[in-house]
Amino acid sequence: MATIFSKIVAGEIPSYKVAENDAFYAFLDINPLAKGHTLVIPKREVDYFFDLTDEEIAAMQVFAKKVACAIKTAFPCIKVGQAVLGLEVPHAHIHLVPMQSERDMLFTNPKLKLTSEEFVEIAQKISSYLPTE
Ligand code: AMP
Repeated sequence: MATIFSKIVAGEIPSYKVAENDAFYAFLDINPLAKGHTLVIPKREVDYFFDLTDEEIAAMQVFAKKVACAIKTAFPCIKVGQAVLGLEVPHAHIHLVPMQSERDMLFTNPKLKLTSEEFVEIAQKISSYLPTE
């Protein structure tokens, strides 16, 4: 059965898309730790991040780097933090979170409640800072 993230890639479940190429997809986390919290996933369905091939991890990290640079421009922060957890959704993903302090990476923190208009605005803002391929 397809994961919720595969359904997002297929367009069967809506998402606030930030970026996409032939192999990877980036979209806003629906329970963000901070404005700009983005998930980067491979389109190929693999549960555990470290089961991806070396080539996939390398290419995914380069894709995530571009997204992280755009997040940092859109939402000025000290650094964009990166985390891989994957305990909730069995489809490999990288979390990218704008950080003002180390505490911003605590996944036990309360999540922001944003309206769909705010999510749309955030996704568009990040996208606008991505290089055109
Ligand atoms: P984890 O698997 O522990 O890394 O957490 C999965 C993350 O995916 C959580 O931060 C959720 O808020 C996020 N998430 C789950 N479903 C969706 C969805 N439909 N759209 C966007 N983010 C989601």
